[in-house]
Amino acid sequence: MNNPISSILNRYPAIVIDGALATELERRGYDLKNELWSAKILLEQPEAIEQLHYDYFKSGADCAITASYQATIEGFTKRGLNEKEAFDLIQKSVKLAIQARDEFWSDETNRVGRPKPFVAASVGPYGAFLADGSEYRGNYGLNEKELMDFHRPRMKALIEAGADLLACETIPSLVEAWAMAKLLKEFPDTAAWISFSARDEKHVSEGQAFADCVRDLESNAQIVSIGINCTSPKYIPSLIREAKQVTDKPILVYPNSGETYDAENNDWNGSPVFESFGEEAKEWYNAGACLIGGCCRTTPEDIQAIAGWARKTRVGAKPCLASTN
Ligand SMILES: [Zn+2]
Repeated sequence: MNNPISSILNRYPAIVIDGALATELERRGYDLKNELWSAKILLEQPEAIEQLHYDYFKSGADCAITASYQATIEGFTKRGLNEKEAFDLIQKSVKLAIQARDEFWSDETNRVGRPKPFVAASVGPYGAFLADGSEYRGNYGLNEKELMDFHRPRMKALIEAGADLLACETIPSLVEAWAMAKLLKEFPDTAAWISFSARDEKHVSEGQAFADCVRDLESNAQIVSIGINCTSPKYIPSLIREAKQVTDKPILVYPNSGETYDAENNDWNGSPVFESFGEEAKEWYNAGACLIGGCCRTTPEDIQAIAGWARKTRVGAKPCLASTN
């Protein structure tokens, strides 16, 4: 099994994850408020996605998370695509990230002092397909088998398209994480990270203790990192401490800006929790996370600020190495 995370953490103190995709495309003037979500951009303006991946690499990201968060066969076919078109579009999200990475890496001046970035294929939760904000609540009323059946075709498409790793993200509940962990066994050569959304300092969105969720995934060797994303950054230090008590796997965090998502109006309310997201992120490293980036409403500038201190951190002062050997 190829594990891009341990290969990097054996040589570098931290992995810089990228920042927001959808909200950053909106900030750049693209319209994602339509029936096909980001698929419309995948179909009609794929160069915008490729450019954004490139910009995140340039800002210092060691990985790109693909534009497949809300892309599912079931979702696309319900919106007028046939199954083949839906499958191709999901694969296109991976190919765009690979193209951006290869173009970035072909310039030798981009290679100094950093590892070759990898492509993490986003596997959003069932709640993202529902598009009603339930990835921040859970309680879908689906069992493990139903969730496995939902996730299977997209996982297959993403792996076949050449993703280096699956980024199972914004997972609100233990049952969905379990379903994904079990499904991974059908793709034994593939590594994944599992990242939950959380409601407070100790609990995932549906209400289970985060530490229990982490402990339950500990024995699955295909899960190469566990953590939290799209959650307010104010909960992150506590959640890292919760995870550290029960896992030896590298811990990842890529919270949102702290604004809250309003599913009804498909908009974000409030204001960012910290003046400098990227500087605050250093606290998460000190608390024990070794993969750090941003989710919704974060920008290439935030990622640049993270890379700014992460690259300078002395090798040997790392909290992550012990767990990746
Ligand atoms: Zn997010």
